[in-house]
Amino acid sequence: MTFQLDYFSLKGKTALVTGARTGIGQAISIGLAAAGAHVLLLGHRDNLQETQTKIEEIGGTYDTILIDLSKVDTIREKLKPIIEKHEIDILVNNAGVIYREPAVDFNEQEWMRVIDVNVNSIFVLSQEIGRGMVERGSGKIINIASLLSFQGGIFVPAYTASKHAVVGLTKALANEWAGKGVQVNAIAPGYIETNNTEAIRNDEQRNKSILERIPAGRWGEADDLAGAAVFLSSKASEYVNGHVLVVDGGWLGR
Ligand code: NAP
Repeated sequence: MTFQLDYFSLKGKTALVTGARTGIGQAISIGLAAAGAHVLLLGHRDNLQETQTKIEEIGGTYDTILIDLSKVDTIREKLKPIIEKHEIDILVNNAGVIYREPAVDFNEQEWMRVIDVNVNSIFVLSQEIGRGMVERGSGKIINIASLLSFQGGIFVPAYTASKHAVVGLTKALANEWAGKGVQVNAIAPGYIETNNTEAIRNDEQRNKSILERIPAGRWGEADDLAGAAVFLSSKASEYVNGHVLVVDGGWLGR
């Protein structure tokens, strides 16, 4: 069949987006809703009001789910009724945390929390939701990676380790599931203005040196990620598997 514009449409699809309360997860949720998907907004605190309102404003639809992704051993049980109720076509593993401390002093509990939220929960969600996708022979999983999936970063060893693992897991699942009609890919955002980067944006020196290195000449906005997420969620990307789509204003190529 020749290409049609409605390959980008997500009408009739259901998408689950983790970390939908703020930042990139909020922007991706609104983007998927704008493309026609019913969005399951996953947060861990009962205050997803802003995302809900923004989706209502564009005439989109949503349900809200609360699961603490740092408590990995509770995720399967909490997901069960959601999977029974909704046939999930698209899973966006976006929720993530960062903790900054020099490696010699790095807090062990924080190491565990970062790895649990950023990697272990992604595997459990992908396994539980991916199982249905594999059975049905179709589905899309998008993991949010980072520039620190390729680089070392400064004072964020757990985050860097977790984001390298996100790319490894993306490729491993893509290899297994590409032949079963399920596309698993990742998006690596550059430096985006969200809560995640507040500390380095407030550091005048870091802010200046980061900005000078970005060929696009500006920090990214969460909305800059929405188009990439719609593409990887849609029929338009049916033959894209195990890819990491970098959305960074040119940072990595410099
Ligand atoms: P953010 O606004 O801090 O978003 C992180 C989201 O994850 C929040 O909605 C947060 O919910 C949720 N979350 C945190 N802990 C959770 C838990 N235990 N259970 C469930 N949800 C939890 O920052 P962001 O920049 O949009 O981050 C989104 C993703 O992009 C992350 O994976 C991050 O690593 C990645 N990323 C960001 C950048 C950047 O420059 N901003 C660059 C590369 C990659 P609460 O706010 O309610 O805690």
